[in-house]
Amino acid sequence: MDRVHDVLIVGAGPAGASTAARLHQHGVKDLVVLERYDFPRDKPCGGGLTGHCDEALAALDLKLTVPFVPSAEARVRMGGFVRTVAMGRPVNVIRRVELDASLVAQVRARGIEVRCDAPVEALAVGADAVTVRLENGRELRARVVIGADGAASIVRKHLTGNAKALPHRLVMHELPAQLDDTAMVYDFTPMRTGMRGYLWVFPVTGGRANVGVMHYPSSRKGVPELLRVLREGLEPYGIDLPAKGSRAWPVWGYHPGAPVSAPRLLTVGDAAGIDGLTGEGIAVAMEQAQVAGDTAARGLATGDVGFAGYRKALRRATVGRELALDRWLARLLYQAGPGWQRWMSLVLFDPDVLEMYAARVSGSEVLADQKLRLWSALARHAVASGARRRKLRDALARPDQPLLPSSSPSPPISSSPTTSSS
Ligand SMILES: Cc1cc2nc3c(=O)[nH]c(=O)nc-3n(C[C@H](O)[C@H](O)[C@H](O)COP(=O)(O)OP(=O)(O)OC[C@H]3O[C@@H](n4cnc5c(N)ncnc54)[C@H](O)[C@@H]3O)c2cc1C
Repeated sequence: MDRVHDVLIVGAGPAGASTAARLHQHGVKDLVVLERYDFPRDKPCGGGLTGHCDEALAALDLKLTVPFVPSAEARVRMGGFVRTVAMGRPVNVIRRVELDASLVAQVRARGIEVRCDAPVEALAVGADAVTVRLENGRELRARVVIGADGAASIVRKHLTGNAKALPHRLVMHELPAQLDDTAMVYDFTPMRTGMRGYLWVFPVTGGRANVGVMHYPSSRKGVPELLRVLREGLEPYGIDLPAKGSRAWPVWGYHPGAPVSAPRLLTVGDAAGIDGLTGEGIAVAMEQAQVAGDTAARGLATGDVGFAGYRKALRRATVGRELALDRWLARLLYQAGPGWQRWMSLVLFDPDVLEMYAARVSGSEVLADQKLRLWSALARHAVASGARRRKLRDALARPDQPLLPSSSPSPPISSSPTTSSS
């Protein structure tokens, strides 16, 4: 068995790499990241660097060194209704196979050990250290273990036991496609037939598109049904979903009351819960990594590794406030019964709500700080809700229009790598 390390991080995705970078900033050097796979490895994802990703990368001294498509607009659709909103600043769309390898390379360049092909099988918390057992039987010990091991986190399972909750389900596919422009499409039309969530079409470098659906667990939907929803939902875009190659992934939404730590243990990123409204989590992982890194470094310095205040610290951070608000919005918007139409008509037809959310998606504003604007929107809706619901029913009844005809030549959509803060 190895000596006792200061920190072991399980998982080298955005959460693990970012937490390692944060700990390094604090001068924690006795640190090992354990990762199941070797890089480059792919991860099902839409690749939209939404939210406060730029600020998070800059805070961690990490750079966006991979190709990306800057998307300056969000196109929101519901049946026959389409609205295009300018984002406060472009959202960069990357490919995860490239981004994750780049983050790991940057972390390694600081001298941090990232051990690949090292799947963790079990952990046991003792009085002085946590023992982590790898699938090959080897054991490592550390004063603190951080679970950055994604949706199927074994560190989170250690905290929550066998608590049962239905996951969000996401299905995605990256395929060649000639898109007319670089708008990020969020299409809520599938809610018409019982899905609760949205279909996306994001532009990807090299004449490709990233397409998928996210379903919120107010009702159960299996992968075959979501694949059918995706296939049919892509028809108005002139995109044929190939019979094979789509990838499905369950994720758990952030809950402010869910356990995210225990003595000597912290979770971060998808292991702590994704954004319940959008299913997004790259920026979330990088923002939470700063809180996790700060908490772990402080615990190592003071010897207090009980981490009793971590859940509150995550919740109070900007990212926690955004996640809590999105969780609340998701419960309204994606409810199983017909009440969703009331909230969807607010989102689509209020003059300000989509703009606010586009600013949130692009990270140019913190939605949780826009309480006055949100309350004003609610007050307007109290008056206009009946008319807006009729408008929504009209939009749902109208036939879907082809949106992105593939016949016209596409403008170039690739951009060169640059620094995140530029
Ligand atoms: C289809 C889909 C589309 C999405 N689209 C977007 C989007 O457009 N924008 C956005 O911001 N977010 C999106 N997300 C969410 C985003 O992908 C995640 O929030 C993000 O990957 C979280 O990073 P993470 O590091 O916490 O987890 P992960 O990226 O899952 O990384 C976890 C790492 O831990 C490793 N690991 C797991 N278990 C073990 C183990 N036992 N031992 C060792 N290593 C282990 C894994 O191999 C992996 O490398 C999407 C998710 C899905 C499923």
